[in-house]
Amino acid sequence: MSSDCPAIRAIGLSKRYGDKLAVDGFDLDIPRGQFYGLLGPNGAGKTTAIHMLSTLIRPTAGEAWVASQSVREAPVKVRAAIGVVFQESALDRNLTVEENLRFAGLLNHMPKKLIAGRSDELLQIFGLAEKRQQSVAALSGGMRRALDIARGVMHHPQILFLDEPTIGLDLPNRRNIWRHIAELRSDLGITVFLTTHYLEEALDCDRVGFINGGRIVSDGVPRELVAALGEYVIEIEAAQPELLAQALRSRLGPAIVEGSVISFRFDGNAQALAQLNIDLAEQVRALRWRRPNLNDVFLWVIHGHMTMKNEKKDASQK
Ligand code: ATP
Repeated sequence: MSSDCPAIRAIGLSKRYGDKLAVDGFDLDIPRGQFYGLLGPNGAGKTTAIHMLSTLIRPTAGEAWVASQSVREAPVKVRAAIGVVFQESALDRNLTVEENLRFAGLLNHMPKKLIAGRSDELLQIFGLAEKRQQSVAALSGGMRRALDIARGVMHHPQILFLDEPTIGLDLPNRRNIWRHIAELRSDLGITVFLTTHYLEEALDCDRVGFINGGRIVSDGVPRELVAALGEYVIEIEAAQPELLAQALRSRLGPAIVEGSVISFRFDGNAQALAQLNIDLAEQVRALRWRRPNLNDVFLWVIHGHMTMKNEKKDASQK
């Protein structure tokens, strides 16, 4: 592939485990420097996709090129060009924060004279400079995750893969990790490919793809996807949600029913919302509204009520 090819390209990338197609015909083009988020619920195929792109497992069909190298034909070259941070920590808990970074530099064959400077730079970016002499075992979960990411970019990779970088962290720590990733991009211009099932977090990605049952069901620019949903999502609690959803269809459009809660998309203003609240007061247990997020986009896409311009067609329609 030529040097002007995308940072990551996949064509029909698939992985089968027995009867299970964990990833089913994944097509992808990620330009250099892009911040791409692969979003989907547990078991959707995110980790399998990232493992194929980072050469940890071999595809059963299709092909992918990462940093212009084929994952099938040149996995060693791919690995030299990427950083990976998987869900399981790669840190050595017996070493200090700084020793972990330096060790990563040695493992990645960095020239010794560059290792100290690079490690200082990353300790600053990740807010770990004051912890440099502490052992990893004494760090909080959020700091450990930050150090894991710093370790992943120690050798100046062109592309960084992050599998669920915020999993298991509380909200402040999750925000911190997103801030660090943003800093990495602005300071180092790196291409970032991350997966998450905290869909609503990925608003700052340049582009997101939604994966469900191994297939990309939609993709786009996160804020445009959310804006396409409309102004509000209304949630109504009712004793007979299916019946009420049916009755309200002509006024509010299609609904998603989950348990006793019906969700509608609503594109009116605050006045129209207040009127709706008055009109339905007798028929509902509760009515709430809020701004939509990426989680809502995913739900509306998989329920077939939201067709994106660039929605992927079913294989049978190709
Ligand atoms: P999570 O968010 O829980 O990590 P995920 O979106 O990353 O989920 P994958 O781990 O890629 O999903 O799994 C996709 C599907 O493939 C799941 O049904 C999973 O059980 C199956 N799968 C993954 N790895 C294997 C394996 N080694 N053998 C058999 N099935 C597997």
